[in-house]
Amino acid sequence: FREELVVKTIQELNELIEKAREFIPYGKVASYIPALARANKKDLSVAVYLPDGRHYEAGDTSTKFTLQSISKVIVLALVLMDRGEDYVFERVGMEPTGDPFNSIAKLEKTSAGKPLNPMINAGALAVTSMIKGINVEDRFDRLMDFVRLLTGNPELSYSEEVAKSEFETAHLNRSLCFFMKEHGIITEDVEKLLDLYTKQCSIEVNCLELAKIGLVFSLNGWDPVTKQQVIPEKIAQICNTFMVTCGMYNASGEFAIKVGIPAKSGVSGGVMGAVPRRFGIGVYGPSLDEIGNSIAGIKLLELLSKHYNLSIF
Ligand code: GLU
Repeated sequence: FREELVVKTIQELNELIEKAREFIPYGKVASYIPALARANKKDLSVAVYLPDGRHYEAGDTSTKFTLQSISKVIVLALVLMDRGEDYVFERVGMEPTGDPFNSIAKLEKTSAGKPLNPMINAGALAVTSMIKGINVEDRFDRLMDFVRLLTGNPELSYSEEVAKSEFETAHLNRSLCFFMKEHGIITEDVEKLLDLYTKQCSIEVNCLELAKIGLVFSLNGWDPVTKQQVIPEKIAQICNTFMVTCGMYNASGEFAIKVGIPAKSGVSGGVMGAVPRRFGIGVYGPSLDEIGNSIAGIKLLELLSKHYNLSIF
């Protein structure tokens, strides 16, 4: 944001939200996880968090929503810190895919059941299985502490209701786990892994907290609020690269052309954006397009990108 634009920012964000709202009716709220189906389709909000601590919000930014797939990039950072690159990338690949996020098809075709990348469900489940700790509770506590550190909110928690609802209906994710267990990509008990994964997906944030996480990624792991390098630079760069190549499911190519920033979406309707060295963005809009991205959220990011010239390309 150039200085002279700052005073107008909130008004501008509101104007962009109003334009993006027109796309809400063309999408649907996710229903394959029963608890998510109760979201208010009409919600649309955005927060932008700058390195100097200023932040701007528009829409109803107090609404809490679950991270869902956005957690994948956060867990990847934690696991790369826990295990190192070699260990992680021996078990999960680095290549984007044109398949849907929950597809099992490529697992059989790639060598030894190795998932293509950490942003699709198979790869994310494999990554979650690498979180260190003595049991599921301990591993989830470590993840919660990390997300609390990134958001700056020590009270952050997760939705037991969403976690339970997803755990009970995660048949496809169970089958991905069993397939990878057969190939030794994961070794732990599948039910325990799903318990941890569904809790991870159910961590609740609001737009501003999401923007704050995006800010840390945008500064390659540096938190300007606490003045700490919370993620090593190299690891944050890896995460940002995955966000560009695979962050928006099998619409990542189109998103790179139309918006052009590292971003990660989730089926709750959240999208986290990291504009390199400039700011973090949190968007929430639960009406989804067919691929699973927030339909108005993407439009909003497109408008923001054009308005503020954000594309990295
Ligand atoms: N918890 C969801 C699942 O594994 C995450 C999917 C998503 O947000 O893309 O199905």
